[in-house]
Amino acid sequence: VSSSETLGFQAEVKQLLHLMIHSLYSNKEIFLRELVSNASDACDKLRFEAIDHPELFQGDTDLRIRVEFDKDQRTITISDNGIGMTRDEAVDHLGTIARSGTREFFSKLTGDSQKDAQLIGQFGVGFYSAFIVAKKVSVLSRRAGVAETEAVMWESEGEGDFTVAPVEKADRGTSVTLYLRDGEDEFLNGWKLREVLRHYSDHISLPIQMQKEEWDAEKAEQVKKNEWETVNQASALWTRSKSDITDEQYKEFYKHIAHDYDDPLAWTHNRVEGRSEYTQLLYIPKHAPMDLWDRDGRRGVKLYVKRVFIMDDAEQLLPNYLRFVRGVIDTADLPLNVSREILQESRDVRVIREGSSKRILSLLEDLAENQPEQYAEFWTQFGQVLKEGAGEDAANKDRIAKLLRFASTHGDSAAQTVSFADYVGRMKEGQDKIYYVSGESYAAASNSPHLEIFRKKGLEVLVLSDRVDEWMLSYLRDFEGKALTSIAKGGLDLDQLADEDEKKHQAEIAETFKPLVERLKTALGERVKEVRVTGRLVDSPACVVVDQNELSPHLMRMLQAAGQ
Ligand code: ADP
Ligand code: MG
Repeated sequence: VSSSETLGFQAEVKQLLHLMIHSLYSNKEIFLRELVSNASDACDKLRFEAIDHPELFQGDTDLRIRVEFDKDQRTITISDNGIGMTRDEAVDHLGTIARSGTREFFSKLTGDSQKDAQLIGQFGVGFYSAFIVAKKVSVLSRRAGVAETEAVMWESEGEGDFTVAPVEKADRGTSVTLYLRDGEDEFLNGWKLREVLRHYSDHISLPIQMQKEEWDAEKAEQVKKNEWETVNQASALWTRSKSDITDEQYKEFYKHIAHDYDDPLAWTHNRVEGRSEYTQLLYIPKHAPMDLWDRDGRRGVKLYVKRVFIMDDAEQLLPNYLRFVRGVIDTADLPLNVSREILQESRDVRVIREGSSKRILSLLEDLAENQPEQYAEFWTQFGQVLKEGAGEDAANKDRIAKLLRFASTHGDSAAQTVSFADYVGRMKEGQDKIYYVSGESYAAASNSPHLEIFRKKGLEVLVLSDRVDEWMLSYLRDFEGKALTSIAKGGLDLDQLADEDEKKHQAEIAETFKPLVERLKTALGERVKEVRVTGRLVDSPACVVVDQNELSPHLMRMLQAAGQ
């Protein structure tokens, strides 16, 4: 056809294709999960657009996904009657990777297929996984609402380029046909395909249909009948009762909605009834996404209203410090035509946000208490984000404080494993404060001369070096009545903890050094507020401290760096 065009893949796509084929081969049946997942997303999108434009359905409202195979052609076809793609959409969506963090992801690849497979897992695989088993992929698509003659055929052999050509297609939606590589014939089998679909895609809320088959004694083989049957449960997973859902199904559902390849760390599934009515199925991922610190990164959960998909990334449904949570919230309290602006204002949304925050905090408390290794894994990935909650979520500040973990002089390690409760449990007789030292790195903070006296007295000090710490501390002033106290500030009342001899000794020293103190005061003049003899140093001769009520030097440097 003369109007067929050949276009090159974005460089990243080429890299991804190559990597995928070589590193995910041992788990090749995931291609089916990814293509079914896309078909399901496409149907969700159509249903959503049709809320305002019901004519898009053109009389066909029974959304479904079909999986067929052809032994002679050696093909598998996954088709849907969802939203479809225009030519431009096909070029954009199947020729480039738009996800944020893409560049960073590719810069981390090492060439070692084992390590890279891990990374791909975190990135998500998607459409291109078709090329693990296919030597050629054809995508025939017609966007809902456009004419029969304006369909598109996208084809590629998964190397440098792809072609697009205008074609006709009688019905709306997309069918993806895979021309299998040699040796992949195991997928040309109804049993095998059903097994893979049940394993990976049972949670899909739309019917996934395959042709019925019957044993033909004469031919001595299964033959297909002209009749479709649904091979999955086809009900939205979150609407089923917990006892009917296996862990495996929860995990597969997570992979579908989070576009993650790895299992989730934990989840919570609840139905709330009464004044407000909603279902929440929320997951904590194992890995921080690439865009966790990206202002425009994905955040929030999928919103459904009475089973109808409304939007991805509804960030209003969770506070910002829980932006790593993925999942679904399905409510009966919002109108189908709800917009992001309405979400912003809605009282019902506030109730859901508060309820969801509590659920996640309970889930974390449960992990911290019963599965400390898993909690430690969580903390490494998301601890810095959770710390933001101390400032952002005043109502849950105390619960968040209990979930915090710090490095400490107790273990003398940069690992953040000590909770406030651990610290308080080790406090000395007469100690009424929680001491901390802060710095730009663990090494800088833990080598502070201020620590000398604390080490000598055997007093534990928390070592804070994350960027958010100072900010967090401006909201978190104490824990269970024990003031959080910087050891770099003046007026540290360590005397209570000194014994009688020590006190007498210090008084004598102060007397002896009075003349020196006077000379230093004169010499330093305006530059200091005060010069005094201290008992807080052991090996260093002198140190600079700030007054109790002033900004710490670390925070001052941060503010200066920020131009304030
Ligand atoms: P993701 O699903 O994470 O967005 P994929 O690689 O699986 O990434 O798919 C890329 C994009 O291609 C989708 O976001 C979608 O826009 C488009 N797409 C893929 N399959 C279909 C389909 N069956 N119908 C409509 N659009 C599709
Ligand atoms: Mg996908």
